[in-house]
Amino acid sequence: MPAILRVAVASKLRRLFDYLPPDEADAHPPVPGVRVRVPFGRSVRVGIVVETSDETGVPAERLRSILGVIDREPLLSSSAMEFLCWAAEYFHHPPGEVLLGTLPPALRRGRVPGPARPSRWRATQAGRRAPPDAPRGAPVQARLLELLRESRDGLDAAALAGAGTTWRKGLRTLEERGWVRAVSVPESRPAPAPAPAAPAVVLNSAQQAAVDEVRAGLGDFGVYLLDGVTGSGKTEVYLSLIEEVIAAGRQALVLIPEIGLSPQLVARFQSRLGDSLAVLHSGLGDRRRLQSWTAAREGCVSVLVGTRSAVFTPLRRPGLVVVDEEHDPSFKQMDGFRYSARDLAVVLGRVRGVPVLLGSATPSLESVQNAARGRYADLRLPRRAGGARMPSVEVVDLRGQKLEEGVSDAMHAAIRRCLEGGEQSLMFVNRRGFAPVLICHQCGWIADCAHCDAHLVYHREAGRMHCHYCGAVRAPPSECPGCGGTDLRPIGLGTQRVAEHLSTVHPGARVARMDRDSTRRQGALEAILERVHAGAVDILVGTQMLAKGHHFPNVTLVGILDADRGLFGADFRSTERMAQLLVQVAGRCGRGERPGRVLVQTHHPRHPLLNQLIRAGYRAFAEDALEERHAARLPPHACMALLRAEAADRELPRDFLVDARRAGEQCRPAGVNLLGPVPALMERRAGRYRAQLLVESARRPALQRFLDEWLADVEGLSGARRVRWSLDVDPIEIL
Ligand code: ADP
Ligand code: ZN
Ligand code: ZN
Repeated sequence: MPAILRVAVASKLRRLFDYLPPDEADAHPPVPGVRVRVPFGRSVRVGIVVETSDETGVPAERLRSILGVIDREPLLSSSAMEFLCWAAEYFHHPPGEVLLGTLPPALRRGRVPGPARPSRWRATQAGRRAPPDAPRGAPVQARLLELLRESRDGLDAAALAGAGTTWRKGLRTLEERGWVRAVSVPESRPAPAPAPAAPAVVLNSAQQAAVDEVRAGLGDFGVYLLDGVTGSGKTEVYLSLIEEVIAAGRQALVLIPEIGLSPQLVARFQSRLGDSLAVLHSGLGDRRRLQSWTAAREGCVSVLVGTRSAVFTPLRRPGLVVVDEEHDPSFKQMDGFRYSARDLAVVLGRVRGVPVLLGSATPSLESVQNAARGRYADLRLPRRAGGARMPSVEVVDLRGQKLEEGVSDAMHAAIRRCLEGGEQSLMFVNRRGFAPVLICHQCGWIADCAHCDAHLVYHREAGRMHCHYCGAVRAPPSECPGCGGTDLRPIGLGTQRVAEHLSTVHPGARVARMDRDSTRRQGALEAILERVHAGAVDILVGTQMLAKGHHFPNVTLVGILDADRGLFGADFRSTERMAQLLVQVAGRCGRGERPGRVLVQTHHPRHPLLNQLIRAGYRAFAEDALEERHAARLPPHACMALLRAEAADRELPRDFLVDARRAGEQCRPAGVNLLGPVPALMERRAGRYRAQLLVESARRPALQRFLDEWLADVEGLSGARRVRWSLDVDPIEIL
């Protein structure tokens, strides 16, 4: 047995902990990837063995033994460990929190996973096409294959055991050859009737070219950017490649944005790919999550569709990783372990030697740059599929117009035309609630949150004011606390107000809302989507939730009520976000037979960003924006990390960051720069004051080495225990 085991234990410290092997002689061998129970301070914790070593810096009298080994075999394979350790190092997060924190909760607590689920096996297409006497010289395998070829729905263990005592081994070999695959049978539900395989569309030439290029790369690492306009058939490209991967006996991982996990998308995947698909997202209960995880690990599912954390599910035989809407900010985890699932998907592809397909109509500037430099293959779908045309986009100049509740006459006229033709319209408003501000008309007093530097948003339905940052709720005062006046007015636009107004102006129109409030209840989002699809909604008013991949063929009008807020954002990524939002929202219309029309209301009709997007399209915008970033030395032309700190006391975060900066100046190599500290744009949030220090460098390796050394010092600062602090590598917001 090795002398020393280096173990990841969930803890705030960015290091592994050394232990002696267990005293018990008959324990399972504590090899890398198995979970162990270890004494930690005065408690016992679950850890994962990362490596073994012959030496340790811990003095002999302080070295303790592992108390017990939980797993008989590694829970995480060496490639899964390599991937997770890479993530911990890159994002500079404590390895224990990464290795254990990304496991399903039951496993984190030390539970032993049962077998995936009762399984069945089926012959793949390749298995059915293999010569009748194959595989030669392996009678058990040949018998298994023969049995499986004769059955349509697959066979279970009892049926296959008849092929010979070594049937499990034979089956595994057949799986590895891609001739047989396991299909999981859902536990409580009866096996579903085989879904009527949705007829595959005939790919157009651009789709076919994209599929051909990725197909040629199957079996090797490579990154492919699929830049296809909205409705160009990107999903069909994914499906077609996934079918290839499944036929070869391999698994596909598909990452999609939070809200993109709509029942429509899952149903579309299910109807094309059948029952060997598992879904993984944050709304799942612990048990279902463990089931999906185990099934993926044991190779019993062919496709795993999930939101960002699904990237951590170990796959037994991966063949392809897909990231849909790769630009979506929800791929970045914003608290705790701050990782980018999009970037980790690329690393996963590299570690496992499989292609990674990043799809979007509005790719991130990072990916556009990688494509421009030839690091990613640049696949394009320039036209909509299936005969639909791109919508026309018109700017509505709001200057000097009379506006009622933010809606221009031109917009009303366009809505009316839709209603008359039995078509649907979408109205995009970037704020939920009724009005973002409640103001006293006598003295100008504004209702603010008591815990945040933010105004309270007025929600008329509930008759309450809400803070969208900390969740505080208050009743609106009956008279102004400033002057005692009673003329308190809601100012500005929210989804509730717009929906109310449209119902009044267009009586008879069926108006629905899609925002965080109206979709909070379980199943509510599904119900709204269902009604829109069924034609039971004429006008859908919503926030950026509208922008996420929905396919509503009968929508022919998209209205953007206020483009101005996004045009002048303060973060260096605001224009990129705004461009993505505009293009994605616009892309929801004209996806069916009738052409679509987009009306953008603005007080800045000549704004260069708007005009470039309309005239030249997203990719031209992206290329110009990249040049601006280059000139300003901003990502992706520079690398950044942000050290954030917060505390209930205003001085503490700043003091801590000043000390951190001083420590950083000591070990900072040339070319790594520290900027700040500065208060966050919203300094107080949920009762805590927030400040930050920016680290910037043109060179990634220099930045990474600096962070390693610096964080060790930062962890030891006396102020570190008085604030809540975190490091965000590649932050997507720096305010
Ligand atoms: P995207 O993912 O790029 O937004 P989708 O894959 O959702 O696009 O396709 C948009 C619509 O076009 C869908 O209704 C889809 O069935 C249809 N479609 C896609 N490819 C084709 C094709 N080759 N021929 C006909 N219709 C297609
Ligand atoms: Zn007042
Ligand atoms: Zn608040």
